[in-house]
Amino acid sequence: MNDKIIIKGAREHNLKNITLEIPRNQLVTITGLSGSGKSSLAFDTIFAEGQRRYVESLSAYARQFLGQMEKPDVDEIEGLSPAISIDQKAHSANPRSTVATITEIYDYLRVLYARVGKPHCVKCKKEIEKLSNEQMVDVVLKGTGGTQGTKGAVKILAPVVLGRKGEYYQLLYDLYNSGFARVRIDGQLFDLSQQIKLKKYQQHTIEVVVDSIPVSSLMSDDKEARQRLADALETAVRRGNDVAIIAYPDGTERMLSSKFSCPDDGFAFPEIEPRLFSFNSPYGACQVCHGLGTAELFSEELCGACTGDRLRPEALHVWLPRSSASTDTSGLSIVDISRMSIEAATEYFRSVQFSEREQEITGPVLKEVVNRLQFMMDVGLHYLALNRMAGTLSGGEAQRIRLASQVGSRLVGALYVLDEPTIGLHQRDNDRLIETLLQLRDLGNTVLVVEHDEDTIRASDYMVEIGPGAGVHGGFVVAAGRTPDVFKDKNSLTAAYLRGDKKIEVPETRRKAGKDSIKIRGASENNLKNIDVDIPLRRFVCVTGVSGSGKSTLAYDTMYKELARRLYGSKDRPGKHTAVLGAEYIDKTVLIDQGAIGRTPRSNPATYTGCWGPIREIFAATEEARFRGYKVGRFSFNVPGGRCESCEGHGTTAIEMHFLPTVYVTCDVCKGKRFERETLEILFKEKNVFQVLQMTVEEATEFFSEIPVVHDKLKTLNEVGLGYLRLGQSATTLSGGEAQRVKLASELSKRATGRTLYLLDEPTTGLHFEDVKRLLEVLHKLVDKGNTVVVIEHNLDVIKTADWLIDLGPEGGDKGGTLVMAGTPEDIARHAKSYTGQYLKRMLK
Ligand code: ADP
Ligand code: ADP
Ligand code: ZN
Repeated sequence: MNDKIIIKGAREHNLKNITLEIPRNQLVTITGLSGSGKSSLAFDTIFAEGQRRYVESLSAYARQFLGQMEKPDVDEIEGLSPAISIDQKAHSANPRSTVATITEIYDYLRVLYARVGKPHCVKCKKEIEKLSNEQMVDVVLKGTGGTQGTKGAVKILAPVVLGRKGEYYQLLYDLYNSGFARVRIDGQLFDLSQQIKLKKYQQHTIEVVVDSIPVSSLMSDDKEARQRLADALETAVRRGNDVAIIAYPDGTERMLSSKFSCPDDGFAFPEIEPRLFSFNSPYGACQVCHGLGTAELFSEELCGACTGDRLRPEALHVWLPRSSASTDTSGLSIVDISRMSIEAATEYFRSVQFSEREQEITGPVLKEVVNRLQFMMDVGLHYLALNRMAGTLSGGEAQRIRLASQVGSRLVGALYVLDEPTIGLHQRDNDRLIETLLQLRDLGNTVLVVEHDEDTIRASDYMVEIGPGAGVHGGFVVAAGRTPDVFKDKNSLTAAYLRGDKKIEVPETRRKAGKDSIKIRGASENNLKNIDVDIPLRRFVCVTGVSGSGKSTLAYDTMYKELARRLYGSKDRPGKHTAVLGAEYIDKTVLIDQGAIGRTPRSNPATYTGCWGPIREIFAATEEARFRGYKVGRFSFNVPGGRCESCEGHGTTAIEMHFLPTVYVTCDVCKGKRFERETLEILFKEKNVFQVLQMTVEEATEFFSEIPVVHDKLKTLNEVGLGYLRLGQSATTLSGGEAQRVKLASELSKRATGRTLYLLDEPTTGLHFEDVKRLLEVLHKLVDKGNTVVVIEHNLDVIKTADWLIDLGPEGGDKGGTLVMAGTPEDIARHAKSYTGQYLKRMLK
């Protein structure tokens, strides 16, 4: 019983009351068309229930929210473990988070620095050590030579109060009783035998004079004087919190510390503990910018004091040795290490030499650091800098970091649910990612991945396919079984592609190179190495290269932002470049990303594609509506007049939950119908306005077949494979892939100017082979109309159909950012140094 998860009667969203078994402690892939119900099963049912169980197992405090966590629509799930989801949403809202902090590498580095870091004087950069009593004596004796002359005395003082308010009556009395004769208060000497009245509400600094030794006796190499000095220093350090102040007759002073302090500059170090290296702690943060690194919150100007390093100077002067190969004399501060890429840091910690004693005390910590770095290498993130801000990571990168952290946590017996972990990853790096998934499994976990990637499906132990169609046409289990046996299943569309029965064809001919192009000159943002790239117009162009090679920086940050600035006056600052030529050949540039369509739940496919206006006009034009005097606004759920006012046309009302996402419940006035009874009495072809919103795009295309303005817009939604969506389905419930295709459909239905440049970043995210095939048809249709389509892609099925490839690399990060080659897929496949070419060759035969 314990080796299976059994799901009975799952009905969430479009799931058709399905029952299935999933083997535990295996790597399981869930495949199927986009919109078939994979996420509804994996995330909204299995994970949601697993998370409830997890919360149940927590404290009573957490359990009080259990009742408010929505229970998925499923009869029963047996054999479920506590579940952890690793999706692509950006989670960290903390603007201070970096790759190093979210992976905990930074925490371990702080401990490492506190244990074996060597402090250096901020002024003279010399290494400083804790001074022993003997060393202090030497320092004082050395200071008495030369310029001091032989007159006067050296005072040894102990700081007992540092700039704090109070009368200190008792303290002074105690000092007197302990036998001290004099104190220095706020720089002035007093006899302890006299009455000293301090202002209660003023800050005072009190230093007790421990001894005053004639310079002459110290200079005469007198044993007794030396002992007296040693005793005085000992007392001073004990009384003065590890610090003794030496005041010479000429008025110069220095501070000595039995902790860390520079014997030459008297520069005293604060206690070297992990807190010192935290920019989130007032103890370690730069005191000017409070650890922000910038002059102000949200400003780009660097803090004048720390120049963006975020730590106080002392923290930056605790160093680890450079690797043995380096000739540099200064060591590495924690900030120097943070600037390294994962790869460079891995190399550093492999080669750095610690003494035997140091190895003993760093061993476990160092192991944690190295392990975590290795996990990040394994998931193909070697090019990321440790100090990269979490907020600037792509969804795929963030997900893979969390995946790496999970492998590091060595949790056993959990259920992991992942969403397309291969997103953003070049074919070359797939193997190591899959290896990581298998590692997670081998630790004793069940790993459930929603995935379309062929390598991952083949490497999994078990495959479940949901389908056969999308939306209302999906929601069934069409195939389930152990791999590779399940690949023989004739019902499975995925298997048909894996067997090669179905495939995306390489085009017979490619569009010939045209003469017009967008010429990008001197691109040098992020890792781009001052490169020149030409994007041919009216072609299907793919930008390729391993993860981190600079694809987005070139295509989005530089080309797109510069074109948008020129065409629309966009204020977004483009990436560094010297020129972008050829903008006059285009009159529009459109980014088709996977972001939500419209920001409010009121947006839906009907409003976004613009067929909702005409539909309302149709209702307002019916005989009954005209008779009652109902205008177009009556049929709007956005303005009062015809909608249900109780829910303001939402059909649902929101209940705010403390700590948890808002819960939506069906409006009890309109019962979810969004309109008033009277409005719903108006019928067109026997359907009211709410019933129209409930139609799928497919049904509505048929229903409005004789009304071209509506029909044509809906037809394009069908063409991009979204026939299953309901007209009124809230935009916030669409997946990224669905949203992207709604945007494409809306572009397709516009009158073609033939001079638009479209940019898409990994449009195959969330798409099955079959969906990719359909998407390609749409994209090529846009090019046939004379437009330019630029796609950033790793998917070889897409790459092989392109007219022209721009291959960046050769590696990610610093070792990337150059143009490996531009040319047709055949050209690239012949190029020995291109990773893309190596994989492409196999597909082109
Ligand atoms: P997949 O993961 O296979 O792409 P999903 O499970 O996300 O598919 O979606 C299955 C169907 O359920 C789709 O028609 C989708 O539009 C619909 N759907 C998803 N989320 C919601 C929701 N919150 N409310 C209503 N319908 C939803
Ligand atoms: P790709 O799109 O090919 O995966 P990117 O253009 O996203 O590559 O990144 C290229 C390089 O620039 C990588 O080393 C990446 O870490 C770095 N990079 C990207 N965005 C930022 C950013 N906002 N801040 C700092 N470095 C960045
Ligand atoms: Zn209502």
